[in-house]
Amino acid sequence: MSHYHEDPSRFPLRGGCACGHIRYTLTAPPIIVHCCHCTACQRETGSAFVLNAIVETQLLTLDPPEEPTISAGPGVPAVPATLPSTLKSMGEPKWDTQDLGGWGEGEGSQEGEGEDPFACPPPPSSSPHSQKPITVHTPTESGLPQTIARCPRCYVALWSHYHCGAGRHGVFLRVGTLDTPSEVGPDVHIYTKSKRRFVSIDDGKPAFEGFYPKPQEVMWKGGWERYENLRAIVMAAYAAAKATP
Ligand SMILES: [Zn+2]
Ligand SMILES: [Zn+2]
Repeated sequence: MSHYHEDPSRFPLRGGCACGHIRYTLTAPPIIVHCCHCTACQRETGSAFVLNAIVETQLLTLDPPEEPTISAGPGVPAVPATLPSTLKSMGEPKWDTQDLGGWGEGEGSQEGEGEDPFACPPPPSSSPHSQKPITVHTPTESGLPQTIARCPRCYVALWSHYHCGAGRHGVFLRVGTLDTPSEVGPDVHIYTKSKRRFVSIDDGKPAFEGFYPKPQEVMWKGGWERYENLRAIVMAAYAAAKATP
């Protein structure tokens, strides 16, 4: 199968959480796709590694809820996934989003605590019926938070914003939440120093013990150009924030 950026007709791609409450459209190929083997990603996903597609926040759009579906694999039509009707009728989750350390719909503040400097407004909506994820601060080694966007009903993690990186301007979309995840493969393996031994890397993609030192060498050409644009936007935003007393 060709690389995702060699076949732009694959996009847009649709995805969402397990219960169908949060649906999204990925409107363009990612800048790059990381296969991260770090222990933080292992813990946060409960798995051996994560596939993150990095894309500008505005290239993701939020769509109205749909009935949940599950596909058995590539090329297999998705079938309806159901919840017992008693659970469906329970509606909204019992927990308040603030109990999770989030702040609801991206307002960026919690009562009495002032402005949250790490707030990440949700991506644009395609419809007034689109639902918004909750965002939850998650600890990181750098000390700069990662905010994870989760469905407020089933709590499946959909994407992250890393504040040591593009912050609110870029999402690290969980590739496994796409309806057809096999359409998007990794460009690079990172943090292989903590790769599980049963995982073998034989896809010919570059692999690094930590993070890759030279983005230009691992990104496709169009991705690299978008990365440079995104970097300029992020640097300007940091400079503006620093200049504000
Ligand atoms: Zn859900
Ligand atoms: Zn990681």
